[in-house]
Amino acid sequence: MTELGDTLTTLLAQNQAWSEVMEEVDSSFFDRLSSGHKPRCFWIGCSDARVSPNQITASKLGELFIYRNIGNQVVAKDAAFNSALEYALFGLGVSHIVLCGHYCCGGVRAALSGESSGKHLTSWLEGMREEFTRRQLTATDVKIVEENWDIACEININFQLARLCSSQLLHDYWDTGSELSIHPILFDLRSGVLKSHNVSVSSSDAAREVAATI
Ligand SMILES: [Zn+2]
Repeated sequence: MTELGDTLTTLLAQNQAWSEVMEEVDSSFFDRLSSGHKPRCFWIGCSDARVSPNQITASKLGELFIYRNIGNQVVAKDAAFNSALEYALFGLGVSHIVLCGHYCCGGVRAALSGESSGKHLTSWLEGMREEFTRRQLTATDVKIVEENWDIACEININFQLARLCSSQLLHDYWDTGSELSIHPILFDLRSGVLKSHNVSVSSSDAAREVAATI
């Protein structure tokens, strides 16, 4: 069997075992799951295979509305992101947005070094790389890239927060009188711990201040 076949076989077998355990533990679980979802939190994270939002927060299915991309980026022209944000706010009525970056992020490293796996990824990381260049963090020397990696992951989360705070959708949502707080956090793969920045943004005015930092 091909490697792909092996992978699919494994995934399907694991799913079968999981669904049976869930049914056994809670016989109405799938009835509730299929009846709809009302998550209170919109999670923006990286596509990295090691940072699964539900797993690292021990959240149940249905508790997080999730959007992931390489580098947990907020890009103004990203239609997939804008539609997810719009639905999270005006469809689901979430009251929290978690913007989750992580240490050891390959996207951040590629933006630092300028070495990516192709033209699409290079283009996707362009804004992040410009920010790192502005802060004199980009380098071709592997050792310097390594040294700057942690701080770049921290800068990236603040950069993406500022971009998020520029979104008109957020301001429109606050204008309706809805409550919304944005929480930037960083996941440390080396310890499994999520680090909160303790700088939640909870109003239009606060968001405008953060947006003005870039
Ligand atoms: Zn990443």
